Amino acid sequence: MNVDTNVYEKAAELIKKSKKTIVLTGAGISTESGIPDFRSPGTGLWEKMDPMEALSTRVLYNDPIKFYNNGFKILLSMKDARPNKAHYILAQMEDEGLISGIITQNIDNLHQKAGSHRIFEVHGQTRTGSCMNCGTKVSIDVLNDKIEKREIPPICDKCNGILRPDVVMFGDPMPEDFEKAWHEASNSDLMIVIGSSLTVSPVNFLPGLVKHLIIINKTRTPEDNRADVVIRCSASEALSNIITYLNKEEK
Ligand code: NAD
Repeated sequence: MNVDTNVYEKAAELIKKSKKTIVLTGAGISTESGIPDFRSPGTGLWEKMDPMEALSTRVLYNDPIKFYNNGFKILLSMKDARPNKAHYILAQMEDEGLISGIITQNIDNLHQKAGSHRIFEVHGQTRTGSCMNCGTKVSIDVLNDKIEKREIPPICDKCNGILRPDVVMFGDPMPEDFEKAWHEASNSDLMIVIGSSLTVSPVNFLPGLVKHLIIINKTRTPEDNRADVVIRCSASEALSNIITYLNKEEK
């Protein structure tokens, strides 16, 4: 992709000047780790199925066999993925005090694996499941063992309630992390959005809370017009180039 190198310099300047910078990531940051996003033409999950149906509370509650045969497999497919350069650069930026944390729509655990610490998982995660009756948490492996034994829906060993993955499905309320993310965004000067189509609500309201915006995305987003800088290339390439300029400015 042919990108004007000036945008990296501008982005580095904004990061340097900002008192508090928060990052918002979406599925696009993890495509380079082999996890398909929803909307990329040709590879996005949307081309094969309707994720709003496969990962919905309607299917989870009313047709659990369908949920565990389809939606749950999407969740499990992320289990062994490895972070890519973009995840590692963000972890390094947090360590160096350049960003205050990461709000992520992703459920793939790759920011944790890369070593980031302050992470707001606004759509949940795929490490655990929990009982809808007593709240007991189990690892995703325990949940998967039950599914492989055709225990559908999976049952809590403590209270016989029904277990479910700790992922925010279409139709679920937003978790506590979303409130924290809202607060975090409201108190930030700059947001760097990486790999999100900014079409999923209510997360797509968060960029509107922040004065300055850098958008790194391969395709257009609805917030491009109000962003200070738009970088239309891969997350790892964009972040590597921004780091180069940040280092140059230090010298
Ligand atoms: P999305 O699929 O709607 O948009 C992803 C965007 O990233 C697209 O605009 C695409 O052009 C861009 N993109 C793809 N690869 C890129 C790359 N290497 N570098 C830069 N940009 C790239 O994703 P979304 O906005 O996060 O919303 C979809 C929902 O799907 C979210 O709620 C998320 O929880 C869920 N989801 C998560 C994962 C995951 O955890 N990895 C994967 C698929 C979907």
